[in-house]
Amino acid sequence: GAAQPLLKVNNIEVIYDHVILVLRGISLEVPKGGIVAILGANGAGKTTTLKAISNLLGTERGEVTKGSIEFDGVSVESSSPNALVKRGCIQVMEGRHCFEHLTVEENLLTGAFTRGGDRQGIQRDLEMVYNYFPRLRERRTSQAGYTSGGEQQMVAIGRALMSRPKMILLDEPSMGLAPQLVEQIFEIVKQINEQEGVTILLAEQNTNIALRYAKFGYILESGRVVMEGEAEQLRNNEDVKEFYLGLG
Ligand code: ATP
Repeated sequence: GAAQPLLKVNNIEVIYDHVILVLRGISLEVPKGGIVAILGANGAGKTTTLKAISNLLGTERGEVTKGSIEFDGVSVESSSPNALVKRGCIQVMEGRHCFEHLTVEENLLTGAFTRGGDRQGIQRDLEMVYNYFPRLRERRTSQAGYTSGGEQQMVAIGRALMSRPKMILLDEPSMGLAPQLVEQIFEIVKQINEQEGVTILLAEQNTNIALRYAKFGYILESGRVVMEGEAEQLRNNEDVKEFYLGLG
C-alpha cells in the first residue's frame, strides 16, 4: 500500500471569534518528500488551513473545533508552534515577515533558534542557504527592510530552512512578485525538495504555476475541498481550466 503520509489532516473545522465557521471539514494528505498545493480563490481558506496545521490560529482568535492533524506519525493539534518547528514542521507566512531592522544574515540566523549551540551545523546550513539563494549571499549585510520583495521571500524561505525542517508550509510564495521571479523561486523550492528531501505544502492563488511544480493539488472553495487530484489531471480538467487557470 501507500507509504505513511508525513502530514495527515483529517476533517478539520476552524472557527474564528467563536462564531465564524471558516473551514468546514478539510481533509488532506502530504506524502513524505512530496510537493502538494492548496489552491483556491482569495478567502477560500488556504491560509487558515496552513495556520491550523502549524497552530498559529490562536493569535487571530481562531480555533480548530473538530478533526485531527497528524505530523510524522504524531498527533499535533495541541503542539505549540515552536514545538512543531522542533518536530520539523515550519511555516513561511504570507507577506514574508522579515525582521526589517536586522540584516539578511541575522534574519537567516533567527531561523536556527531551536538549535541551541550547534554552531558548526548552523554555519554549514547558512552556506547551504546561500548556495540555493546566491542573491542572499550578496545581500547578507543589507538591512532586510531595504531588500526587494523577491529577496524578502528568499529570506523567508532561507530562514525556514535554517530550522532543518522535514516539511515547509509555504503560504502564497508568488504574492506581489513579477512572473520571472516567481518562476525562479518555485525552481529553487523544487531543488530544495529534491536535494534536501524537504516536503512542501504550499498555498497558492496562482494555480498555473502551482500545478506545474506540485504533484498533487487540493482546490478549496468556501472552506471545503471541492476537487483533488494529481497536478497533471487537474491541469487538464475543464472546470479547473475555466475557473482557475489563466488567472495566475
Ligand atoms: P488569501 O489568499 O486572502 O489568504 P485564503 O484562501 O488564504 O485567502 P483565508 O485567509 O484562510 O483564505 O480566509 C478564509 C476566510 O476566513 C475568509 O472569509 C476570511 O475573511 C476569514 N478570516 C480570515 N482570518 C480571519 C480572522 N482572523 N477572523 C475572522 N475571519 C477571518
